Amino acid sequence: MTADAPDDPAAVGRYTLDSRLTGALGGRTAQALERAFGYRTVGDLLAHYPRRYALRGELTALASLPLDENVTIVAEVIEVRERTMKSRRGSILEVKISDGTGILTLTFFNQAWRSRELVPGARGIFAGKVGDYRGARQLAHPDYELFDDATPSSPTDPSVKRWAEAPIPIYPATGALASWQLAKAIALLLDGLETADAAGDPIPEAVRASHGLLAQRRALEQVHRPEVESQWKAARRTLRFSEALVLQTALLQRRAELRTHATTARHPSPGGLLERFDASLPFELTGDQVEVGQAIADDLGEPVPMNRLVQGEVGSGKTVVALRAMLAVADSGGQAALLAPTEVLAAQHLRSIARMLGPDLSAALVPTLLTGQLPAAERRKALLRAAAGQSRIVVGTHALIGDTVSFADLGLIVVDEQHRFGVEQREALRLKGRQPPHVLVLTATPIPRTVAMTVFGDLDISTIRELPAGRAGIESHVVPLAERPGWRSRVWERLAEEVAAGRQGFVVCPAIEARVVEEADAGPEGGAPAEAGGDRGGAAGSADPASRPVASVASVLAEVTALPAFSDIRVAPLHGRMSSDEKDATMRAFAAGEIDVLVATTVIEVGVDVPNASAMVVVDADRFGVSQLHQLRGRVGRGGLPGLCLLVTAAEPGSLARQRVDAVAATLDGFELARVDLELRQEGDVLGATQSGGRSSLKLLRVARDGDVIADARAVAAGVLDDDPSLQRHPGLAAEVRRRLDDDATGFLSKG
Ligand code: ADP
Ligand code: MG
Repeated sequence: MTADAPDDPAAVGRYTLDSRLTGALGGRTAQALERAFGYRTVGDLLAHYPRRYALRGELTALASLPLDENVTIVAEVIEVRERTMKSRRGSILEVKISDGTGILTLTFFNQAWRSRELVPGARGIFAGKVGDYRGARQLAHPDYELFDDATPSSPTDPSVKRWAEAPIPIYPATGALASWQLAKAIALLLDGLETADAAGDPIPEAVRASHGLLAQRRALEQVHRPEVESQWKAARRTLRFSEALVLQTALLQRRAELRTHATTARHPSPGGLLERFDASLPFELTGDQVEVGQAIADDLGEPVPMNRLVQGEVGSGKTVVALRAMLAVADSGGQAALLAPTEVLAAQHLRSIARMLGPDLSAALVPTLLTGQLPAAERRKALLRAAAGQSRIVVGTHALIGDTVSFADLGLIVVDEQHRFGVEQREALRLKGRQPPHVLVLTATPIPRTVAMTVFGDLDISTIRELPAGRAGIESHVVPLAERPGWRSRVWERLAEEVAAGRQGFVVCPAIEARVVEEADAGPEGGAPAEAGGDRGGAAGSADPASRPVASVASVLAEVTALPAFSDIRVAPLHGRMSSDEKDATMRAFAAGEIDVLVATTVIEVGVDVPNASAMVVVDADRFGVSQLHQLRGRVGRGGLPGLCLLVTAAEPGSLARQRVDAVAATLDGFELARVDLELRQEGDVLGATQSGGRSSLKLLRVARDGDVIADARAVAAGVLDDDPSLQRHPGLAAEVRRRLDDDATGFLSKG
């Protein structure tokens, strides 16, 4: 159970953070650590920080031990009993331990010798999987370690107080590796580590001094072997900051690296396309639109590629901003590509762009749709237009980055919906033009500042907060079927009333048919739509046969069309299993008012713009994530009409699923929802399996909680890099950045 003999005993005391665990701990332990956590180096294991600390005097509630979980408890042996088994040969040793709140039985078969060390009064730490024997909790064959100093000579002995105060680190453990086994291995490493890392401390000394932080060695020692509580607290503060600093340094370096590539600066020409477009706009741009537009114009005017994210609520006017950027590029003779997450949205983007441009500008720019599902002849024509440079605006899905599409002079790529678009895809885009194009990403999912800094830290970020005037707002209600099953029919009546008043509506379902979850349009990340938005909440992807069937387009369509109230209402389905022609025709008919109610999956999630659509019913709303519900809701209330959004759910009040739905109904503020979402997910994490850690996950840093630390670290990282871009004079920081990036750069960068 302890570390086996190191391969090379002479190496003890001579290894660094980069040394292999095999050399430091021996092959068997190293293998177990790699299997459990993916750890390979001394640094990996030393970054396996305790999950919490137990005090010897602190009593764990034995009474409420969760069945089937691996637990680690500190307790005292109170009674030992050996008995022979009736049915089989052999003996059972039953050891009762207590922490003062409850009693737990440990059982050992044919290990009577243990009664020599497990004597009443012995104290120690016990670990095992909680089992149940005749209604009582027990641990069978637990691992344990008794405290040597369990029975100090005299209660007044000063060592008693020290002993009682020393916190015991409790590590994220697995069935194979108990907490104190990890503690022992880590202690071995700490003892054998060279006293000062040759590379030096990752946090510059001046920063440590000004922030009151510890040296890395000290922090590692105190986080793993604290003598008092204040030591591990100080250590955590240091290590958390260090983690944030390394992360931000990596992101800022990456951003700087992107800026070393040269590209063409794009300026609008006087009296050119952009000026003509601005003159034709039927409305004034909002202040935010002007400001963001200026930031983009400044970026485009530089001979280095723009990498900018524009976030703004649905309907805040991002498309206009993006179109103006495309026109600036067209003015300088270049082309722009607009990527939408689905074919429906690409087609719709093309229509609205053509509409906004008007006939003259459209003739000059030849906006062209280029998607995989175009008929061959049309597709060939579109490919030619892109390759010849005749089309200055090409609209498509992410497939546009595919190899077959070439551009005469691709100056700008606009990506609509950042959330479905990861670091890797951005990378592929940059390689697309002869020179790296400028990249503008749009997202309607507001991203809390700290997440943006962490996950999209390589992008510049602009925000449109102001909505164009004249929005009538959306009224949102939860329809709680768990408490009020009868309200379901009232939902359909309410929808029928909207239609009777001349409006249109959507009904959104999590699945296409019973047990067929919408995946066709989930975007490049694949997976069910509820996950594509980054929401772990949506359970749509994990069809649990035992659970309640998920509402589907097919079942809801059948349900509503059978209702007398719907006899005069024109209802049609829309989902990703339909061909793009069918989808397109349906959307057109809906936009033209020839369909009253669309029963759809999340294909309508983003960008669909039908001002007369005022009502939305989301069935099984708990199957969707917070940001997804918010996006869906943004489809209504776009014209001058007030929107109505009914979130139908059978989730139990108080459940996480229900909290998500309640949160969406409670506010229209996307930034607030993004924050709530993060918090709820955080909660899910605490309850979930992420305790086990792993190499490329964030360790002590939590984006929901540590915004200040992240912002602070970003400023420090910027200062360091400003002065020393290649980190030549900061070898300790450079070494940590390299260690983290070695792991798995994209995993590291995309972890929220
Ligand atoms: P987003 O892409 O952010 O969801 P859009 O650019 O599609 O928003 O704009 C939503 C609607 O608002 C469109 O019909 C657009 O023409 C209109 N719009 C955009 N900007 C303004 C503005 N400044 N004033 C009035 N209407 C605007
Ligand atoms: Mg849009």
